[in-house]
Amino acid sequence: MTVIDLRSDTVTRPTAAMREAMYRAEVGDDVFGDDPTVRELEEYAADMCGKPAALFVVSGTMGNQLAILSHCRRGDEAIVDYNSHIAYYEAGAPAVLAGVSLRTVVADDGIMTARQIAAAIRPVDIHQPPTGLICLENSHNRGGGTCYSLTRLRQIRDLAVGHGLPVHIDGARIFNAAVARGYQVSECADCADSMMFCLSKGLAAPVGSILVGDREFIARARRWRKVLGGGMRQAGVLAAAGLVALREMPERLAEDHRRARRLAEAGRELGLQVDAEKIETNIVVFDSQWWGITAVELQQKLKQRGILTTVFDRYALRMVTHYQIDDEMLERAIAGLAAVLNRQG
Ligand SMILES: *Cc1c(COP(=O)(O)O)cnc(C)c1O
Repeated sequence: MTVIDLRSDTVTRPTAAMREAMYRAEVGDDVFGDDPTVRELEEYAADMCGKPAALFVVSGTMGNQLAILSHCRRGDEAIVDYNSHIAYYEAGAPAVLAGVSLRTVVADDGIMTARQIAAAIRPVDIHQPPTGLICLENSHNRGGGTCYSLTRLRQIRDLAVGHGLPVHIDGARIFNAAVARGYQVSECADCADSMMFCLSKGLAAPVGSILVGDREFIARARRWRKVLGGGMRQAGVLAAAGLVALREMPERLAEDHRRARRLAEAGRELGLQVDAEKIETNIVVFDSQWWGITAVELQQKLKQRGILTTVFDRYALRMVTHYQIDDEMLERAIAGLAAVLNRQG
């Protein structure tokens, strides 16, 4: 039985072209700034995002935390939505590393409005922590792969500029958002002071993320990366795969989105609650409550059929389409879902 792994797009394995590029990569010691392949990746990524500089980092979490460390001072507060990766999945790192607390906004589908953010910005008051940063997640993981519109991003940028506040975009899946919405990643980055994106998710590189911003910001982030032990030596081996990811992989993401929508429609026909029209990218979050089955139970039953998923909460189960899921595997996953639910009913 081949396993159909819908847990995350992080499970994607490097392509043959990536392996080849890794094998051939020219390398040097990147902590000394000597690795030509890392430099090439950083320049390519900065260019793509229309920012002056970029930094290759170990993980998306490290990229987000370097942004917080580099934008904020100890005691500052960062505005995030309550379901954001930064608030939910980064192990309390803003408090641990930067001494930054989070002001969490409750936003439908993870997409905050400028008005909600405006209401969360602190006045100058000795009792209150100063707002130091606004963080947006695009596409939004726990929101179900939802995306910011450019209009919304620009409204938020204008608000931030008006308050003299920096904006960071957690764009772990920014290429999914760009493909789904038909905008350029540089148009998103243009609405922010910094942006992080992952090479290791839908773009299928084995390891690594990119942080972009202006030169001075990236110099600070580079120093913080060293503080955290994230200075890598012959990292060109990894950067080579990242370059292939950026050059070859973004366009095919539309396929993952098509399959996610197909999965959502099939799940909805089976009685799982999901707004199939709202599925724009590669993430589907099903609500199992109508079936009277918890997400953990559904996950277990699917696992017995070789279908792997992620539990979001009591009744929410996430499935993610990606490079390693073709049409045939998707149809088998749908058939497995139908078999499990029909037996349940
Ligand atoms: C995966 C993810 C990250 C972090 O990436 P890691 O490489 O797993 O640390 C950050 N933000 C979002 C929205 C993510 O989905």
